[in-house]
Amino acid sequence: MNVMANRPRRLESYVGGAWVAGAKEGVPLLDASTGEPVAFIDSSGIDFKAILAHGREKGGPALRRMSFHERAAMLKALGQALMERKEEFYALSTATGATRADSWVDIEGGIGTLLSYASKGRRELPNTRVLLDGDVEPLSKDNTFAAQHILSPLQGVAVHINAFNFPCWGMLEKLAPTLLAGVPAIVKPASQTAYLTELMVRRIIETGILPEGALQLVCGSVGDLLDHVEGQDAVTFTGSAATGRRLKTHKAIIENSVRFTMEADSLNAAVLGLDAAPGTEEFDLFVKEVAREMTVKAGQKCTAIRRVIAPRAYSEALIESLGARLGKTAIGNPANEAVRMGPLASLDQREEVRARIRDLSADAEIVAGNPDNPSVQSGDAVAGAFLNPVLLYCDRPGSARAVHDVEAFGPVSTVMPYDTAEEAVDLARRGKGSLVASVFTNDPAFAEEVVLGLAPFHGRVMIGNRVSAKSSTGHGSPLPGLVHGGPGRAGGGEELGGMRGVKHYMQRTAIQGAPTMLSAVTGRWLPGAEARAAGEHPFRKSLAELKIGDQLITATRTVTLDDIEHFAHFTGDTFYAHMDEEAAKANPFFDGRVAHGYLIVSFAAGLFVDPAPGPVLANYGVDNLRFLTPVNPGDTLQVQLTCKEINPRANAEHGEVRWDCQVTNQLGAAVAQYDVLTMVAKTRE
Ligand code: NDP
Repeated sequence: MNVMANRPRRLESYVGGAWVAGAKEGVPLLDASTGEPVAFIDSSGIDFKAILAHGREKGGPALRRMSFHERAAMLKALGQALMERKEEFYALSTATGATRADSWVDIEGGIGTLLSYASKGRRELPNTRVLLDGDVEPLSKDNTFAAQHILSPLQGVAVHINAFNFPCWGMLEKLAPTLLAGVPAIVKPASQTAYLTELMVRRIIETGILPEGALQLVCGSVGDLLDHVEGQDAVTFTGSAATGRRLKTHKAIIENSVRFTMEADSLNAAVLGLDAAPGTEEFDLFVKEVAREMTVKAGQKCTAIRRVIAPRAYSEALIESLGARLGKTAIGNPANEAVRMGPLASLDQREEVRARIRDLSADAEIVAGNPDNPSVQSGDAVAGAFLNPVLLYCDRPGSARAVHDVEAFGPVSTVMPYDTAEEAVDLARRGKGSLVASVFTNDPAFAEEVVLGLAPFHGRVMIGNRVSAKSSTGHGSPLPGLVHGGPGRAGGGEELGGMRGVKHYMQRTAIQGAPTMLSAVTGRWLPGAEARAAGEHPFRKSLAELKIGDQLITATRTVTLDDIEHFAHFTGDTFYAHMDEEAAKANPFFDGRVAHGYLIVSFAAGLFVDPAPGPVLANYGVDNLRFLTPVNPGDTLQVQLTCKEINPRANAEHGEVRWDCQVTNQLGAAVAQYDVLTMVAKTRE
């Protein structure tokens, strides 16, 4: 179906496995530049209780049947399919007021997030359905009772209530970790730009890549949906603090302790260093960054720079440079390629921003831009929601309130001067918690003082200087691998952050019991759990034949002084503890010359390795290596090697096997312990 050809059209919701239109014709959604209707939106008539049930009963079980790697492969296929259709999204995105560059952040940034989660999921998660969290906690001296924390997917639905400014990225950045965790989602885009989200969801559903029930879409109000959320569900919200607070205190959310993640207003700050005087590279980078953050998406970004904190002595020069740069911004209909900044999302939004500029004016004066008379290169200056960038200056920010309290969600920032690093930190913290701050300095001492002062109040802090200028991803870009969210006013939520974001949709449970029971539940062998002499050497077994707990007890080997001498001269490691009896004795840890730790590891390999070609393809590392008891000449080593974890790779002929390796001496004392990591073929040749 060609969505563009049918404009304006009635948006549909994808619920219960079908596309349905609302019972009424709906509210018109207008093109931000021309004021022409793009679509109509309405969700009346939808049974919201039933769609929660559909997600829980259909989508959840289907996703939970898949392993992390299968779900990661699903996200990859989805990301690739959407990338192939990206031009269709770009074409419709123009109606939201976004330039091509703005849309890139939303569309390709969103799809990129999906792909990033796909690849991180495959690399960083095991190919299982349950995640282990942390190490085994020993709870008894004789190793008969221990505990392991695990994470398993919530069995409810994630309800994502999104903001108007990123109709694609806003959906995908939440969807990727949700689906990877194994939890279905109901997406509710903000009405104003829901037509673009609807188009993307249409394309997602058409691919048939997601199991039915994994993704539902509500275009329009969510009606009484929140009345029906339960303890296994999660709700995320991005938007205004007022709505966020209302939803967070919704009766069903409170009574059922529903997980609620909120990302709301954020008065993000950028601090210019005391060292970054006009003429320095940092000063120029700062001007560029502030101007960019004010104008990308016409400043409608939750991470945009709202407060510009600069040394008092440089403020005048800064305002001059910023004013000149902002004045050159080509504003107009983003369909026109020369345009650098489009309109706000709607006329209502522009009125809202103008009202907030009036609030800010209580503390600050406008020093660049006129909020009332937009001058545009193209588009309809009356019907389009255009607003030129507006820069304000607040001379006494220490005693001002509005500049630290009011978020004008548009191309608006306030410059505020400071004298000391301490004062700069104090001003930034008056925002009462933000998503991000940036500090532009080439002075490590200034960076340390300011960043450590800002960190508890921010989810992300970026340091900008001449070295990172070319490679920096910038102040305003949330990245899939980094935490996105902030304390206090910013909502107290946390999204993304790589696998941290996935865990938000999982329940952490401490499992206690005898080691063999824990091993059965977690799929990982642990000390004290039953083990079997493998019969055949375990390195002769393919992935299909190996079992957790398969164990090899090796022959023994006595370490001689000659071995130590040989190893020292062969490798060049002639550290005195291995070479000089007197000096070694004087060391508080040793009683005479000791064997090198790496000699012990090498001898251990010599004891446990089966040399012939076979299913074991490679040793790709060791984890958690510890040397526990010194080995003196004459000590005898023995190894216990136990198959600890088997992780078959999806779409490959091999998998990873983690072996528990315990090296002991003739007294049975542990000399070294570590995990040996190997690649093993799935089948024998
Ligand atoms: P809202 O808080 O009004 O809306 C955000 C989302 O919540 C939308 O999807 C909206 O749907 C939905 N929503 C609104 N009321 C309810 C309700 N009672 N139950 C369930 N869902 C509801 O914010 P806007 O998008 O209208 O933006 C207003 C202001 O919010 C901006 O001017 C800006 O200041 C701030 N904002 C801040 C962001 C940030 O991350 N810092 C991001 C976006 C906005 P619908 O659109 O259908 O009403």
